[in-house]
Amino acid sequence: MTLPSASRRLALQWLALLATTHGPRALASGVDLPAEVTAAIGADTLLVESGTLPLLLCVPHDGDRELPGIPARVNGTRVRDQHTLALSERTARRLEQLTGARPWRIACRVSRRQVDVNRPEAEAFEHPALRPVWLAYHQAVVHAVDALRTAHPGGALLLDIHGQGYSSNTMFRGTRNGRTVTSLVARHGRSALDGPDSLGGQLASRGVGVAPAPGSDAREEQRYVGGYTVATYGSHRPGGIDAIQLEFGTQQRANPELGDVLAAATLAFLRAMPGLASGLPGEMRGVQRAAGADASDSKASNARLRSIPPA
Ligand SMILES: [Zn+2]
Repeated sequence: MTLPSASRRLALQWLALLATTHGPRALASGVDLPAEVTAAIGADTLLVESGTLPLLLCVPHDGDRELPGIPARVNGTRVRDQHTLALSERTARRLEQLTGARPWRIACRVSRRQVDVNRPEAEAFEHPALRPVWLAYHQAVVHAVDALRTAHPGGALLLDIHGQGYSSNTMFRGTRNGRTVTSLVARHGRSALDGPDSLGGQLASRGVGVAPAPGSDAREEQRYVGGYTVATYGSHRPGGIDAIQLEFGTQQRANPELGDVLAAATLAFLRAMPGLASGLPGEMRGVQRAAGADASDSKASNARLRSIPPA
């Protein structure tokens, strides 16, 4: 999978400048990242962690940095998806506790006021200085998706993590009504999208409100049907992987335990899908079923949100 390669030199020059003004951050170790990505990590405009699980967590809208001297965008949504970066970190940490392995994680550190990396390039930014940020984010996702496809021929999953303020205790699933998980549904049937073993089903069984409700074949809420990232990297596209957009409500995100629940639900989902499960560490590969049959679900992974008071 490739992106249009225009202006790579400009991107590198700008990011090199940022790196000198903001200092380096720790780079993802042992992974040969594209130059744009390495420069953006060094400039602290991008967070990239490599992993060995068949999973990529993307966080496009929780950046808190603004490039100096550049005005906010005038068009498009500029609202920050509060707590989604922390949610991704807690999810990754819990998955590591449960499996001994971490997912890939990619987050934009720059505010959505300046750039929206979940939009096509033409709509993502208004000042050309933001182009390198957009480009580096997508080069990182392309790199991770390629690495996941190579490492996990049985399949891999991208979760694009968002927040919405429309319904405070609902997580809206966005797959373009199943298109971005074409491979998953072809291998495991429609219930892999909306049955009890689906990710939505696993979340619901742990007390998380989800829409569409598991077991229904309702269409996805139009405003959260899935944005640029899942539409670009989903398994309906050549070189893509199964991709699901998750839009968590305000009250759900305010609960710091949500990351533990998302980790447990994601792991149970991966284990229930033999193709995806083949990418898990050996002892985790046994096929698991939801609805109380997962006898080996540890106490830790059996975290339930229902019993946890909102923070
Ligand atoms: Zn968002």
